[in-house]
Amino acid sequence: MNDHNYNTGFLNYCQICYSKDLLEVMNLGYQPLADDLIKVSEFNRECIYYPIKINLCKKCRYLQNNYIVGDKILYNKDYHYRPGISKSVVDNLSMLANETIRNYDLKPEDLVVDIGSNDGTLLSQFKYLGHFNLLGVEPTGTYIFHKDHNINVVNDYFNLKSSQKIYSKYGKAKIITTTNVFAHTNKLGDFIKGIKNIIRKDGIFIIENHYLLDVIKKNQFDTFYHEHLRTYSLKSLIRLMKLYGFYIYEAKTSDRYGGNIQVHFTLQKVNRSSNVNKILKIETDFGLDNPKTYLKFNSNIEKIKIELFEYFNKNKSKFIVGKAFPARASIIIHYFSFIKDHLQFIAEQPTSLKIKHFVPGTSLEIKSSNLLLKNKPDIMVILAWHLFDVISKKWRQKGLKKTSFVAPLPRLKIYK
Ligand SMILES: [Zn+2]
Repeated sequence: MNDHNYNTGFLNYCQICYSKDLLEVMNLGYQPLADDLIKVSEFNRECIYYPIKINLCKKCRYLQNNYIVGDKILYNKDYHYRPGISKSVVDNLSMLANETIRNYDLKPEDLVVDIGSNDGTLLSQFKYLGHFNLLGVEPTGTYIFHKDHNINVVNDYFNLKSSQKIYSKYGKAKIITTTNVFAHTNKLGDFIKGIKNIIRKDGIFIIENHYLLDVIKKNQFDTFYHEHLRTYSLKSLIRLMKLYGFYIYEAKTSDRYGGNIQVHFTLQKVNRSSNVNKILKIETDFGLDNPKTYLKFNSNIEKIKIELFEYFNKNKSKFIVGKAFPARASIIIHYFSFIKDHLQFIAEQPTSLKIKHFVPGTSLEIKSSNLLLKNKPDIMVILAWHLFDVISKKWRQKGLKKTSFVAPLPRLKIYK
């Protein structure tokens, strides 16, 4: 049955239309989970490696992972990512709250639900703006941080069952947001049915996720990790949500995290904003419907791999560090596996929960960035390369005058 709820393990069919006519776009081999950090004190524990292969459905043009690890393994109490500690992420979520209130004439008492609310950062922005009827839904251990903002939270996975409990306790929501969650869940059908359970007829469901066009355009193969089961285009999202009775209302793209799309759906038949057709045209003109676009993408990555290998080989006697460890950096480190032999450590901001951990499947340690001013590196490889300008300028100003800053993607870039 095409219920869009996938079991764990290999998928030999399209996640959306169930066709078996798939084109292999990229094979990343077997990799540990990008968030499976090992505490330095538990160095004997080994990571489990899972396959990642990215397929394009030739029938409906959906880009997708061929292996499902499962929500229970990926999103557990030890989850490390927290938006609240990164200023750029907080600023983006603040903008989302502001725009939502303004565009939808949101009243302070209207219920706002954020699914995959993590540490409550997005909801705290609504609260700051005078809204008090807020609910987070978060399965991982980061849910405890909602307490800091005095915001209600359900510590559970969002699905049909939990949506029924939410409905009976809190009623229906005017706004439901989900940022960087909708591409992740393996019970997609249950998730969307759950949204239908708790959304008002005049409600708006806002999805924000990494975006297929930017992934392909900027060679972002590092967005292909086990958590990202699907990479959406606007066209594919509209097609999926239509199956469940949702209409597209608004769509926006932005440069956030290397390229993002925000899409607004509603159960009411509405006139779509002019942005929607504009973005759809850009997708078609770029060639997202053409399988050759994806094969070219693959050959670009192989070229970058060779350039990087030669760069590191030339600089092997230098003191080289990595900067920042977003989950996607694990994919770069494993697919360009020679990188880890050259890095002394990876620096993260001092408040990060990732410090004193090893990068999954390696003996490469994540340490506080306070060390960078004491041990000035010759080369800093910026693994959060979408923030290359911000990070390189900041550290140049902080005193790394002679350090060369290197971005591995979208192509090898060196700032001396
Ligand atoms: Zn398909």
